[in-house]
Amino acid sequence: MADLQLGFLGLGRMGNPMLGHLLQAGYVVHAYDPSAPALEAACQRGARAAGSPAEVADAADIVLLSLPTPDVVERAVLGEGGIVHGKRARIVIDLSTTGPRMAMAIAAALAEKGRITLVDSPVSGGVAGAEKATLALMVSCPKGTYAEVQPVLQHLGKLFFVGEKPGLGQTLKLVNNLLSVAALAVSSEGMVMGVKAGLDPQTMIDVINVSSGRNSAIAEKFPRSILPRSFDYGFALGLSYKDVRLCVDEAEAMGIPMLVGSAVRQFLAMAHATFGPDSDFTNMVRLVENWAGVEVARR
Ligand code: NAD
Repeated sequence: MADLQLGFLGLGRMGNPMLGHLLQAGYVVHAYDPSAPALEAACQRGARAAGSPAEVADAADIVLLSLPTPDVVERAVLGEGGIVHGKRARIVIDLSTTGPRMAMAIAAALAEKGRITLVDSPVSGGVAGAEKATLALMVSCPKGTYAEVQPVLQHLGKLFFVGEKPGLGQTLKLVNNLLSVAALAVSSEGMVMGVKAGLDPQTMIDVINVSSGRNSAIAEKFPRSILPRSFDYGFALGLSYKDVRLCVDEAEAMGIPMLVGSAVRQFLAMAHATFGPDSDFTNMVRLVENWAGVEVARR
């Protein structure tokens, strides 16, 4: 569509590179973020600044969101000055991780109050995936709407249509993130044990990466952010804790006990209390290191 106008809310670690791809593809993008430096940086790259989510929705047909938590999404969409009060927007694509119940509630409220369709589209692949446009997008929405948003979303990575019911994308995303951080938690325990016993952590990584214990923490997080002690993988502990809380709570609401999931949740609660919500989630290893009195560092 030649005159299609996009909107983007949330220009953080994920939103900023995603916005860049949409601008590069030639779209006009109306952007909003309460952080003035984030908004200014986006404008320098060609985005048009808006003063509120409603202003974005006055100017854009399709509004994309990459916001930190379910409450922030709810306020930005349905609150005072929210998207629902905008005059032009017909579709909201939520790229944030909010959980299926929030996605269902927002889809219903948007349809009723604003005749707007929600596209539930959480993403996986981290900041690196957002920068390289290689994210996995788990999309749930009506099939007709999928055909409309597919040309836009294809600029961000690979699309997986997971169903028409809002929240299905979120469920898949929560399961993925539980698995990802469970791997980081248990790999932290294993790596610290190996180092304390006298093994070289790089040797451990080389062997595990071609053995049956291989996982995303050993393949990516340890070599990139833990062995060099940079703790800069790009995913905040507060957000990871939020994801696992959402996952275990959703499972409980469905009557499904999660034994391992609950242990991972407690591990994250301890790391969160120790290092704070803004620290990178690779700091989880430092909890186990402190107990063991060793560091998993490159030799
Ligand atoms: P972030 O904290 O870096 O960025 C969030 C941005 O939203 C910030 O710039 C903040 O100022 C802005 N914001 C807050 N309130 C707002 C509002 N009302 N309107 C507009 N903007 C607002 O977070 P992130 O790491 O980019 O994550 C964003 C979402 O993507 C989260 O839901 C997260 O769970 C999910 N996610 C993150 C990663 C990752 O690796 N970082 C990977 C996949 C999914």
